[in-house]
Amino acid sequence: MAIVVQKYGGTSVADAEKIRRAARRVIETVKKGQGVVVVASARGKQTDQLVADALELNPNPPKREMDQLLSTGEQQTVSLFAMALHGMGYDAISFTGGQIRMLTDSVHTKARIKSIDADRIHRQLDDKKIVIVAGFQGVDEHENITTLGRGGSDTTAVALAAALGARLCEIYTDVDGIYTADPRAFERAVKMDRISYDEMLEMASLGAGVMHPRAIEFGKKYDVTIAVRSSSQDTEGTLITHEVPQMEGVVVSGATIQRDMAKIGLVGVDNIPGNAAKIFAHLAKAKVVVNDIIQTEISSEKANLSFMIAISDLDAAKEAAEQIKSEVNCQSIFVREDIAEVSVVGVGMRSHYGVAEKMFGALAEAKVNIDSITTSEIRISCAVDEDQAKRALEAVCVAFELDKPAKMREQ
Ligand code: ADP
Ligand code: ASP
Ligand code: MG
Repeated sequence: MAIVVQKYGGTSVADAEKIRRAARRVIETVKKGQGVVVVASARGKQTDQLVADALELNPNPPKREMDQLLSTGEQQTVSLFAMALHGMGYDAISFTGGQIRMLTDSVHTKARIKSIDADRIHRQLDDKKIVIVAGFQGVDEHENITTLGRGGSDTTAVALAAALGARLCEIYTDVDGIYTADPRAFERAVKMDRISYDEMLEMASLGAGVMHPRAIEFGKKYDVTIAVRSSSQDTEGTLITHEVPQMEGVVVSGATIQRDMAKIGLVGVDNIPGNAAKIFAHLAKAKVVVNDIIQTEISSEKANLSFMIAISDLDAAKEAAEQIKSEVNCQSIFVREDIAEVSVVGVGMRSHYGVAEKMFGALAEAKVNIDSITTSEIRISCAVDEDQAKRALEAVCVAFELDKPAKMREQ
């Protein structure tokens, strides 16, 4: 029996009617003879509400307790979903992450999946049951509940698809596919039929919140096709798959905007071997994820070093930077919180020139000042003032014609 994993995000299970609608879709798939495993998120904005509840009692809650609390949102959805299916005459069973041994490391609030016990799910599917799994959560080796980071239900879904040998993972959400940019930030963005894992991974890591980045890594590694679709309409959606030949010669496929970031700079660090290693070892120990590292030699004695982090890691990163300051003989530390990053992404960049020129030209024309620039083979990112970020995204989208279907672009 072919197995498909269907993931329903928060807005798609926000109330009883929406759960019923999702359940009807599951039943349609079951009727086609497929085994269905559902992964569900917390209803509506429930995770945000739980975070607010926690912060009201403690501005710096222990991360273990945070996971214990946040995981309850998903646990409610899965049992309600199973009840809805029973009410419609179908046998279903719900599981928490712990119950299917979704084993993770112990990094609370951003844990990584290590292994999944697919046997329990296979047995239920063999018994003709629909299996509903709570997204976003797992357990560590000491039975502590962990969560995978905000938006992590996507990762549960694709990891489960991989573990179960499913070729397809459907992500049902409140948009009808992946757009050239977040349609909430750039209204004229257009939907893509397909996007490669590499491009989607870059876009997701650079702020396209429609998919959790780890989900794309699992999809690529285990060859699971991911279909992003609307939970309220019956449209085709977008397929995330291996790279397809660049038929239309598209250079830039999409653009992103990432807020909630901070930049930390260490000014005047001793320019000697081993100092960068010391600084980043310290940050790694504090479990801070670091991006866009820039080191510049300012003289034979001194160097400047800066990097970007998620704002949620700011306290930990500042503390780590302060601790290492004297050891690397750093003259001063600066922190910028009013910063955002605008990026363009496209595998076509590998073989085309002129992308940087076009991007910087568009930003100059829009009078956006660039704080720093970082690149990879398939992306260019510019850090800009947060209050200029939307304007910057629009300018870049227009320059690369991301408001037109791929075949109609001249880029
Ligand atoms: P869910 O609760 O279903 O997981 P999310 O809110 O996590 O839904 O993701 C869907 C949202 O992602 C959309 O409403 C959209 O605003 C946002 N988004 C960001 N970038 C993109 C993009 N490139 N294409 C489509 N949606 C995007
Ligand atoms: N409920 C979690 C969140 O809001 C996980 C998810 O929705 O993917 O981040
Ligand atoms: Mg999501």
